Amino acid sequence: MSEVRVRFAPSPTGYLHVGSLRTALYNYLFARRNNGKVILRIEDTDRERLVEDAIEKMINTFKRVNLEFDEGPVQGGDYGPYIQSERKHLYQKYAKQLVETGHAYYCFCSKEELDEMRKKQIESGQAPKYDKRCLKLSKEEVQKRLDAGEPYVIRLNVPSGRTITFNDLIHGPTTFETDNIDDQILLKSDGFPTYHLAVVIDDHHMGITHVLRADEWIPSTPKHILLYEAFGWEPPKFGHIPLLVNTEGKKLSKRDGDVSVEDYLNKGYLPEALINYLALLGWNPGTEEEFFTLKELEQRFSLDRVNDSAGVFDIEKLNWM
Ligand code: GLU
Repeated sequence: MSEVRVRFAPSPTGYLHVGSLRTALYNYLFARRNNGKVILRIEDTDRERLVEDAIEKMINTFKRVNLEFDEGPVQGGDYGPYIQSERKHLYQKYAKQLVETGHAYYCFCSKEELDEMRKKQIESGQAPKYDKRCLKLSKEEVQKRLDAGEPYVIRLNVPSGRTITFNDLIHGPTTFETDNIDDQILLKSDGFPTYHLAVVIDDHHMGITHVLRADEWIPSTPKHILLYEAFGWEPPKFGHIPLLVNTEGKKLSKRDGDVSVEDYLNKGYLPEALINYLALLGWNPGTEEEFFTLKELEQRFSLDRVNDSAGVFDIEKLNWM
């Protein structure tokens, strides 16, 4: 088997959430256990959600908890290929390639038109979905509109009537019907890619073998598989890590108090305690032991002991550690 390569791919939208630290940690441990590499990639293509300094802050937090990446942006240095906003031209090139091969198409619909379509669909009891009307435009018409400088997006042409199945490393076989998948926007009108296009192009170019990310991305995976197919690339293996929830079973959010790793560290929680607690929230070491150093975790971690249900973040337990 080729060298294991995993990545943690945060969007720099603020602070590092404890749930994100756990995702990063599982990637890190999986890489170390398999003598592989773990890469940090900054997914900053959503320009509206960008927060200044977020990258530096996040890198600093990782330093404080001693999680080291093998590749990634260097603070104050050359951000290399690991910052998506610096790779815009690449995504544009691939989006256009997909149009040429018929796997994607230009869409000129305005917000009003899309809202109207959506409203009608909801009124008639249908799930809202783009109705592919721009796919019917002739090549000449498309060219004319592009030449006239009309704003456009590029959409994935999702094939109808297919079943996509992947074997999730944590949840097992997972199936989606393409008829329930919308023609996802790949390239936005500001020229930036959406997450879906950028993530596939980057994971492929960075030689990622295993994508380990939060559960909330499960519905995105069939879209990514369609993109791998369209490009003729081998998809990585996918594993989706269950969410962290509060003691009431709800997604852990700011309302539950601190969710930022930095806040915990600033309050005096030891990095080792936080790492140990997060590792055990969803991963079962298979022994009665409750304290592991990072080195010990590196030697023991395995994906088949990651639970397939949510981990309950209970501050009382962390206090006790
Ligand atoms: N940028 C996404 C996030 O912030 C990463 C999703 C992924 O790992 O593919 O959650």
